[in-house]
Amino acid sequence: MPDPNVPPLPPDVSVRQASAYFKALLRGDPEALAIIKTTVRETWDGWFPPGEKRQMKLPLTLPGICWPLHATVGHIAVTTPQITGHFNAGAGLDAIVVCDLVPAGKYRNGAARQWCRTHQVYWGTQADLADQSFSGKTRCKHHASLMGYVLYPEVFDPSVHHGASLAQETEHAEHAEDAENTGLLVLRARPDNGGALLARKAIALAIDCRNLPGLFHADIAQINLTPPAVQGYLQARRSGAPLGCIDCPRCHHPHLDLDEFAQEPHQRHYCGHCGHSATHSKEEMVSNPLARLAEYALRTQQRIERWF
Ligand SMILES: [Zn+2]
Ligand SMILES: [Zn+2]
Ligand SMILES: [Zn+2]
Repeated sequence: MPDPNVPPLPPDVSVRQASAYFKALLRGDPEALAIIKTTVRETWDGWFPPGEKRQMKLPLTLPGICWPLHATVGHIAVTTPQITGHFNAGAGLDAIVVCDLVPAGKYRNGAARQWCRTHQVYWGTQADLADQSFSGKTRCKHHASLMGYVLYPEVFDPSVHHGASLAQETEHAEHAEDAENTGLLVLRARPDNGGALLARKAIALAIDCRNLPGLFHADIAQINLTPPAVQGYLQARRSGAPLGCIDCPRCHHPHLDLDEFAQEPHQRHYCGHCGHSATHSKEEMVSNPLARLAEYALRTQQRIERWF
């Protein structure tokens, strides 16, 4: 029987596709990820054949979480719960999200440089400038890359819930090591005000930071628990890599390492929020904001009983 709390997967992203994506993430398999991106791209091209003028609606701004399907640095500590882009369903792997460009110093030749927070890439090369004069738009080279997304995500406020438990759903879980990870997050918590038990399964959800004073910079509204961020955190923890959370000295946003950077401790980190490229940690480490939330969970066990 379907769980009424769990939204069905949208029809345009087959269960097989989503499951293949999560398994490729779990294995850290870039080739499999590339194949999945191609498959999703073909689906998209089926609706909007390249060459024909794409009947693009205006982008919508909605509460949501999005993430590049494959990246080594991320932007999950966000100042706004909303994202702007083109979405075909409530969740999927095929969003086109508009660039969020911020000034990020200069290139070596003195040209102004910007950082795209959406697609995690610099803007301002000769090719970017040529595209700008051709299209009339300031957009990064990955502006048309398909992204994973969840609209209207659960935003969990740990300060008004107790006995909270957050984990990844596993199947055949007799032995933890053999269990198959479905890629879904499972959240359960009791509201302090005595309301109904909160029980959710989701591809991605957000932690509301505004009532967790001192944990993150005051501008940060929420930490988005995206599949790559959760995977990076779990990979680093399992591999025994020194795991912590370092803030960018320029914008004070916490740094997120993904993919191979989540497994290879390093000292120099790029900021996914402002593009600052020289944050140095004292020791080689992997940084993930979920590690700071894990410390919070340890300190407040009456609130968070289980954190992955
Ligand atoms: Zn962009
Ligand atoms: Zn790093
Ligand atoms: Zn920064």
